[in-house]
Amino acid sequence: MTYDLAGKRVWVAGHRGMVGGAIARRLADEQCEVLTVGRETLDLTDQRAVLDWMRKERPQAVFLAAARVGGILANSTYPVDFLRDNLLIETAIFTGAHDVGVEKLLFLGSSCIYPKFAPQPIQEDALLTGELEPTNEWYAIAKIAGIKLAQAYRQQYGCDYISAMPTNLYGPGDNFDLNSSHVLPALIRKVHEARLIGAPVQVWGTGSPRREFLYVDDCADACVHLMKVYSDKGHVNVGSGEDISIMELTRLVMDVLDYARGEVVTDPSKPDGTPRKLMDNSRLRSFGWAPQVSLREGVARAYAAFLDQAQSAA
Ligand code: GDP
Repeated sequence: MTYDLAGKRVWVAGHRGMVGGAIARRLADEQCEVLTVGRETLDLTDQRAVLDWMRKERPQAVFLAAARVGGILANSTYPVDFLRDNLLIETAIFTGAHDVGVEKLLFLGSSCIYPKFAPQPIQEDALLTGELEPTNEWYAIAKIAGIKLAQAYRQQYGCDYISAMPTNLYGPGDNFDLNSSHVLPALIRKVHEARLIGAPVQVWGTGSPRREFLYVDDCADACVHLMKVYSDKGHVNVGSGEDISIMELTRLVMDVLDYARGEVVTDPSKPDGTPRKLMDNSRLRSFGWAPQVSLREGVARAYAAFLDQAQSAA
């Protein structure tokens, strides 16, 4: 073990988001004190305010899971917000971390940092070897800057800052809005609603693209693991290592939601996006970590969370 969380003051920046929330839940199993702060109290894009807050709270470790996030539509409608806000959040938190002498920081990126046509499964060293996917390049550029900031602080000041790149995550706290969500929460909602009225399930695109999914609590567990055992400049992919076609995924969700008898219709007028997106997780596995939650089990848990979220919104 390179870093012991026991007895430490640990700030989860972005604890209201899906990943930050899962990290805060996971840290309850560690003997550490978890610090959180809501956006009504602290604007993370305000460098002065972040610095003042960090000087007062003096975190010793930081999980940087705060970001402006959104789907393809939001990214292309608000490019300034995605690029500028994320750069500001990163700059503010890295600056504060260095100022108050944070011992260890884990920065969370995203698989969209990789070139659009990276060889599959995508290895860490594919970073900056080709053109990005244009629909989310604003977000991707900000996340690449975050990885580079962690490396720069490590190189110039010897700070123990590391980065993790998660694949498509899903689980409690997800966005189930059909216009802005990713495919898995969308399918959970669509299958649930189709079953209620015995209607066919509508799948965007052809159903043939392949995607990798990781349950968010597995991601949180991997992040805590990396915080403890990993200390180097390279970022680490966090994924399940397995992909599935959108059509197979639809059938799996229908099975879990007890609607296997339902019909599926595809909507080829909607985009397929990239044909395959699978990350190579062998580095993470080499540090002694493996996912615990199967896709079937994760979908069942995510469905329970969807029902809870729908009930509390009603
Ligand atoms: P991507 O991984 O960046 O392409 O983002 P998504 O998770 O939004 O989409 C993944 C794949 O699922 C794409 O091929 C979509 O066309 C397909 N898909 C099928 N049905 C849906 C749906 O209802 N919502 C979304 N977001 N994607 C869907």
